[in-house]
Amino acid sequence: MANVAILYCKKIQDHSCIACAKCHKGMAERNGEFSRYGDGELQLVGMTDCGDCPGLTFPRVKLLTEVAKGLGRSVDVIHFGTCMKLAMETADCPIEFEDLKFAVEQKFGCEVVLGTHSY
Ligand code: SF4
Ligand code: SF4
Repeated sequence: MANVAILYCKKIQDHSCIACAKCHKGMAERNGEFSRYGDGELQLVGMTDCGDCPGLTFPRVKLLTEVAKGLGRSVDVIHFGTCMKLAMETADCPIEFEDLKFAVEQKFGCEVVLGTHSY
């Protein structure tokens, strides 16, 4: 079983995808980046924002992992939502994904995946 957390773009969430319904559907259908889990069990540990501009994601992930640990849960994989991917690709998002992925994976021991659903 994989324990998954999802981060969303604080500037976009609830403007492009209300209530993050697309990611919930994507998880259920193993759509997009969730296809990597196949028939394996998936558990959503939590969803939170990216920490807001100018890219305060690292402290956000620290808080997320600490809260999860305090609740007796772990985070195996953190997905940066498709909203974050689009912000990086089409807007002025300051996140340098490869650098951040390396830093988060080294520090917190969880895998970082860019993207969620494909809708
Ligand atoms: S891509 Fe996912 S995490 Fe981002 S706003 Fe849409 S449903 Fe929420
Ligand atoms: S840092 Fe990027 S993902 Fe986060 S709010 Fe700003 S534009 Fe959105």
